[in-house]
Amino acid sequence: MADKRDNAADQMKLWKNGRGSQKPDVLTTGGGNPISDKLNLLTVGPRGPLLVQDVVFTDEMAHFDRERIPERVVHAKGAGAFGYCEVTHDITKYSKAKVFENIGKRTPIAVRFSTVAGEAGSSDTVRDPRGFAVKMYTEDGNWDLTGNNTPVFFIRDAMLFPSFIHSQKRNPQTHLKDPDMVWDFWSLRPESLHQVSFLFSDRGIPDGHRHMNGYGSHTFKLVNAKDEAVYCKFHYKTDQCIQNLTVDEANRLAASDPDYGIHDLYEAITTGNYPSWSFYIQVMTFEQAERFKFNPFDLTKIWPHGDYPLIPVGKLVLNRNPTNYFAEVEQLAFDPSNMPPGIEPSPDKMLQGRLFSYPDTHRHRLGPNYLQLPVNCPYRTRVANYQRDRPMCFTDNQGGAPNYYPNSFCAPENQPQVREHRFQVSADVARYNSSDEDNVSQVRDFYVKVLSEEQRLRLCENIAGHLKDAQLFIQKRAVKNFTDVHPEYGARIQALLDKYNAEGAKKKTVKTYTQHSSYATSKDKANL
Ligand code: NDP
Repeated sequence: MADKRDNAADQMKLWKNGRGSQKPDVLTTGGGNPISDKLNLLTVGPRGPLLVQDVVFTDEMAHFDRERIPERVVHAKGAGAFGYCEVTHDITKYSKAKVFENIGKRTPIAVRFSTVAGEAGSSDTVRDPRGFAVKMYTEDGNWDLTGNNTPVFFIRDAMLFPSFIHSQKRNPQTHLKDPDMVWDFWSLRPESLHQVSFLFSDRGIPDGHRHMNGYGSHTFKLVNAKDEAVYCKFHYKTDQCIQNLTVDEANRLAASDPDYGIHDLYEAITTGNYPSWSFYIQVMTFEQAERFKFNPFDLTKIWPHGDYPLIPVGKLVLNRNPTNYFAEVEQLAFDPSNMPPGIEPSPDKMLQGRLFSYPDTHRHRLGPNYLQLPVNCPYRTRVANYQRDRPMCFTDNQGGAPNYYPNSFCAPENQPQVREHRFQVSADVARYNSSDEDNVSQVRDFYVKVLSEEQRLRLCENIAGHLKDAQLFIQKRAVKNFTDVHPEYGARIQALLDKYNAEGAKKKTVKTYTQHSSYATSKDKANL
């Protein structure tokens, strides 16, 4: 019914209405030459052949042939929107970053939500962590927080990242998702237990992108104007309330509306129902970090709220949809190494690895001048440095300014007042094995103290329903890890697996018998 159509469905009509009585633009080639006929090839006679001089065709086709840029290896499927971060509380005693300068200050932001493992066309309603990446366009350059909807991650050492992702993607031969790969990796690396437990809990399938929290996840460092530093974690709690999809509802939507998350966000914003998140930090002093019972830079752990309470900062509001998805979302590139003065990295090994891998992947995916693209460009400051050229430079390439430093010609100068916080590090250089740094205590707290009995039962069902498809020796290893968290956790999963495995064995026997009976000779049948 035409009157039931929403704004997303009516986008074309709304765009046309927005133009009023304006006449259509002149149709041109990419080079700007007007085109007389975009419907018919230039041919010798009505039946062809085609002439190479049909540059209207070759211009169009050559452009089309190159439309796709490489898909993101992770977080390929996503939705983006724009808005602002507004400061509601003073945290200048912790950070001199301009974004926190004064109460009421608004900084423009871009946010991209995503799933992790699926391809660009995959469903928004799968069980998967969600990316929650925020770019703040500050006067001191961009600040990118490449967070997730969970405060922890599967691994704590960036060396494992490519293997971890491979295990979640497609089997190299079958090109199918492979439960053996998924659970083999997870069960060999018990530091994944915390995130795996979040993933298979109710929050593992959020109801669209608006009804979930975001977390900077990593530990960062905040530095104030007196050059005093603290460690910090970032949290953004949804003001729409947490809402999740049941497994059945998620499966139904995967078939009927696989772009549910994009759709929901687009519609909320076009109807003025702007989603927002309350922005908090947790702070830990260096002394507290020394005494903390866990490694405070371990991405598989949280900082307990009781010891490190949430400190309010402000809010994030999304009030504009992209005007073009490719230009503003597909090309949107987040990079945790974009940190304005007042925000610095901690020694978190995963963060340190991402400081390299994110800009590196963008140079490959979008090209080495990706920071010149309008959506990535730090437009609230003026980029002035000694970097020049590279493919597809489309600025003035800093004109006639000197391209070397130092120089005597009044070119961009160092700014000693924004030097990094000074800190001491001293230890033996080695490849430290961090695999057994208490992988269970916080997961136990989650299982025992945070989840209700119904939530615990659903968690075990969700895990067993997926783990059942892995080989038995992998199931056994995984169950041992869940048992280490809590005997009941492991026992419940094992009981469910026993049921599945018994059903599987029954089916197999019937299948084996059927196969034998359809193909075997009568002598073979007698031997069955
Ligand atoms: P708290 O009781 O103060 O915090 C528990 C937190 O768990 C809540 O604040 C909420 O985080 C989150 N939570 C509640 N229900 C669920 C759920 N169904 N699935 C996932 N997360 C949920 O205790 P602690 O801070 O001492 O943490 C205890 C455990 O809670 C941790 O071991 C960890 O597993 C989990 N947790 C802790 C978080 C933290 O940063 N401290 C954040 C998330 C989980 P939120 O308010 O962010 O939604």
